[in-house]
Amino acid sequence: MNYYSDYIGKMAEELSRLPGIGPKSATRLAYHIINMPKDQVKILTDSITDARENVRYCKCCFNLTDSELCPVCRNEKRDKTQIMVVENPRDMAAYEKTGKYNGVYHVLHGAMSPMLGIGPEDIKLKELIIRLQGDVKELIIATNSSLEGEATAMYISKLVKPTGILVTRIASGVPVGGDLEYIDEITLLRAFEGRVTL
Ligand code: ZN
Repeated sequence: MNYYSDYIGKMAEELSRLPGIGPKSATRLAYHIINMPKDQVKILTDSITDARENVRYCKCCFNLTDSELCPVCRNEKRDKTQIMVVENPRDMAAYEKTGKYNGVYHVLHGAMSPMLGIGPEDIKLKELIIRLQGDVKELIIATNSSLEGEATAMYISKLVKPTGILVTRIASGVPVGGDLEYIDEITLLRAFEGRVTL
């Protein structure tokens, strides 16, 4: 028998699907939302719906954006001959925060993982190879230094090297298994500046 509203139970169940939200937090949030003014709840739900409806992939680099091209790809001052490959938009944001990188990006949306059955066709790799047919001088591989990130870097390097494009990998300084987004800017810059040719 349910001691509380089915609606609250359902909301808590849905909230608990979010990362980092356990059943207890979900229930607490559900009660909090029930006590919020109705117009506040509408602002919250609209913001979720609007973001989900309107945010899409940049048609060039696959960053998340509100328009056809993301601000980096739209920027005429960015060096389009230098492409940095990252696993996700959060990694890209981390590099953008340093303000020192003037090239463009390619967001893979994941990394290859034989263990999880994620192959090259499950990430935005084909799209990268198509981009490389343009005028590209350097491909900087900035995938995470996890097993998956390293495997992906190796795979891309093997694929791209025969084209004659310079392929580099960000240096150590990024701790093994470390997610780029959590690493401070100085470490990130050091990794970038100390990148090595593959
Ligand atoms: Zn873009």
